Amino acid sequence: MNPGTLHVVATPIGNLGDLSPRALDVLGKVDAICAEDTRHTRQLLSRFGLERPLVALHEHNEDAHAGGLVERLRSGESLALVSDAGTPLVSDPGYRLVRAARQAGLRVSPVPGASAAIAALSVAGLASDRFAFEGFLPAKAGARRERLQALAAEPRTLVFYESSHRIVDSLEAMASAFGPDRPAVVARELTKLFETVLDGSLGELRQRVEADPNQQKGEFVVIVEGAGDDADARLAEGLRLYRVLGAHLPPSTAAKLAAELSGAPRKALYGAE
Ligand code: SAM
Repeated sequence: MNPGTLHVVATPIGNLGDLSPRALDVLGKVDAICAEDTRHTRQLLSRFGLERPLVALHEHNEDAHAGGLVERLRSGESLALVSDAGTPLVSDPGYRLVRAARQAGLRVSPVPGASAAIAALSVAGLASDRFAFEGFLPAKAGARRERLQALAAEPRTLVFYESSHRIVDSLEAMASAFGPDRPAVVARELTKLFETVLDGSLGELRQRVEADPNQQKGEFVVIVEGAGDDADARLAEGLRLYRVLGAHLPPSTAAKLAAELSGAPRKALYGAE
């Protein structure tokens, strides 16, 4: 192993066959592995007959531990950084350690592999030349609505992570912020036994997932087509304005102004949730 190097290693998001030969090689040779959950990573390593010293590194202790880990790298040790699944730092801990190592002038080297966002994009069939990764939406309904409204006119494809207990609420909130006709894809349990990839409009997807408890289980990536230049974008912007103005004005005035400002039909705005 290269002394003094921090190797950032992607691990599978389900199918263990996705752990690359190079990842196995690096994980088997480093002096220690910084892991989000040491029990989880110990299990993964033991599936491959590996055993290495593990250091817990999660969002609650990363700031406190980064300095000590940088010292270990400085002294010539090689370390790996992994998260529970997929690519570290992508909605996962690690950026503080990586930043500290880089600031100390140490080598930080990736061992790329699975990431749920990219896996989902690769099968979604939505434009992927430009996309915006939004990660997890806020848990609270009000903050979630605000975030979505701010994204309503975004032309790039949008990528969200979601958990089983919020998937129906989030699809509902997306249909309301972006309009129920916006095309989207719900990618569930990718690379696992019950993998499903559903496509349709946001309104259809919400109904389908709500009606089928099996479609509410597991881990999800939701991909939403970006707002077009046309009617879609005008409607999304009109809905956003209607909600902002509606907080201060009577609905009819808010709908009239939002329609004038956005070019969306007033009828499509008035009374929208
Ligand atoms: N670092 C990981 C990556 O590179 O994808 C993501 C970690 S984040 C804490 C976990 C979220 O990723 C899940 O809640 C889900 O939204 C998504 N995810 C992870 N594995 C998945 C899978 N097999 N299928 C669908 N989504 C998945």
